[in-house]
Amino acid sequence: MPSAHHRVRSVEAEFGGLEAIEGAGVRLRRLFGHAEVPRLDPFLLLDHFRSSDPSDYVAGFPWHPHRGIETVTYMLNGQVDHGDTLGNRGTIDSGDVQWMSSGSGIMHQEMPRRMEGTLDGFQLWVNMPSRSKMSTPEYRGVRGSAFPTVNTDSGTRVKVVAGTYEGALGPVDQLPVDPTYLDVTVRAGETFTAPTVPGHTTFAYPIEGSGKFDPTEHRAIPARTVAVYGDGESVEVRAGADGVRFLLVSGRPIGEPVAWYGPIVMNKQEELQEAIRELRSGDFIKDKHPVVDE
Ligand code: MN
Repeated sequence: MPSAHHRVRSVEAEFGGLEAIEGAGVRLRRLFGHAEVPRLDPFLLLDHFRSSDPSDYVAGFPWHPHRGIETVTYMLNGQVDHGDTLGNRGTIDSGDVQWMSSGSGIMHQEMPRRMEGTLDGFQLWVNMPSRSKMSTPEYRGVRGSAFPTVNTDSGTRVKVVAGTYEGALGPVDQLPVDPTYLDVTVRAGETFTAPTVPGHTTFAYPIEGSGKFDPTEHRAIPARTVAVYGDGESVEVRAGADGVRFLLVSGRPIGEPVAWYGPIVMNKQEELQEAIRELRSGDFIKDKHPVVDE
């Protein structure tokens, strides 16, 4: 039984996102981005690419730099071929997650493969605190089968990418903002509750179906709309008539100034100028590795 002081989080903002063209011509939906800083701190951006028309995605994201952020790619369906200056090369497959901490800098490419059916996946950008922005880059490619899944008596299924749920620990850990990243499926009419760390920024993103993400609100949040939570100790989600599948993401706010130039996010304008100078002079990559084939 929750105590009198236990606060279930309320939904404070909803973002339906905007169509955008990114990379070399990938049509996607940007759920939040530059305009939503600092409300989503430490999260900078969420893109959902979802199309059954290969011309919307095959141009992909050819070689480009990142510094100062983590890019988190989660594929629901489809394959993305990738390579980077750390020497990683491979394919992000359906169910897999690539959690890339760019730190001081990487160059990489992310190229969705042409497929029958619907390519469906997400990329979340997580900011890094100033103390980590120039750290050694770190790459984590995790196969779908490596994530623990919790199944409850009421048929709820929780895939734990990062953080914990019911004692299951996600394999992506030891990150600066202590993130939680869950993929939750709740049957029609059932209620899901999960504790959240007070003070951590938390949002939900329904992928399919709909549900009430706020026990004080009667209105449901439709699929493909970000629900940003206010503070509290837990979230409570009641699935609608078709059930609901959603991402639940949480992390510790960083509370530092944000200087953002495309794929590079630092604290100060001078650091962006330095990054641009280094890109021009060839000094951007601090950790060079030979690119090797699998
Ligand atoms: Mn990238």
